[in-house]
Amino acid sequence: MIEVKDLCKSFGNVNVLNGISTEIAQGEVVAIIGPSGCGKSTFLRSLNLLEEPTSGVITFEGTDITDKSVDINKMRQKIGMVFQQFNLFPNYTVKGNIMLAPVQTGLMNKEEASKRADELLMRVGLSDKADTYPAMLSGGQKQRIAIARALAMNPDVMLFDEPTSALDPEMVGEVLEIMKELAQDGMTMVVVTHEMGFAREVASRVMFINEGQIQEENTPAEFFANPQNPRLCDFLSKVL
Ligand code: ADP
Ligand code: MG
Repeated sequence: MIEVKDLCKSFGNVNVLNGISTEIAQGEVVAIIGPSGCGKSTFLRSLNLLEEPTSGVITFEGTDITDKSVDINKMRQKIGMVFQQFNLFPNYTVKGNIMLAPVQTGLMNKEEASKRADELLMRVGLSDKADTYPAMLSGGQKQRIAIARALAMNPDVMLFDEPTSALDPEMVGEVLEIMKELAQDGMTMVVVTHEMGFAREVASRVMFINEGQIQEENTPAEFFANPQNPRLCDFLSKVL
């Protein structure tokens, strides 16, 4: 589904991504871990061109999205994204947030988008919040709505950038539970996370990024039981 070849990204003279190559197949759940500032967000954001690569090629469902002639907005409709800080639209109701993109892009008419929003609200367990404004929600509820909003476009892949890092500890579980269900339903997911339990139990592959490179990737069982790279061993010794 996604193929990344020798992806490099610099900000000015700072090299943040130093040649990342990997493939992500349909139905995979890839957990990305690594120290702060190593380029995890930059990598994730590159996958839907929120960051423009300095060099390298990213192919999504067979299309080179780094090609200037590609309609990136069309591509982005297939790529859902969930951020650490939720990024809900404060002046829309919860249901309005979920309906906005499908209606604005012409994917659905209002009636279809309303029906889809109702389904998604049910799925994330927040049907009773449809007419509430985001400011009235807890962090965990906001993130569940952000996930529902991303799903409203029927994306082929979901990108998560530390979706539970801004939450109070007691709200982490409810968000991870939604993500786990999504994974079990077969959604292709790329998840930057510090939740090692999630990486271990839900991911099909864990990727360690350090200094802008993939320094190790493996099945969760191998990754955690038998880490090879000394810097991964050091990292795991601090977080486990
Ligand atoms: P991570 O998500 O792993 O913590 P990031 O991808 O956010 O790391 O950042 C990697 C490095 O790139 C950091 O040193 C950060 O300061 C730098 N960086 C990220 N975005 C920008 C930007 N827009 N302009 C300049 N530097 C940036
Ligand atoms: Mg980050």
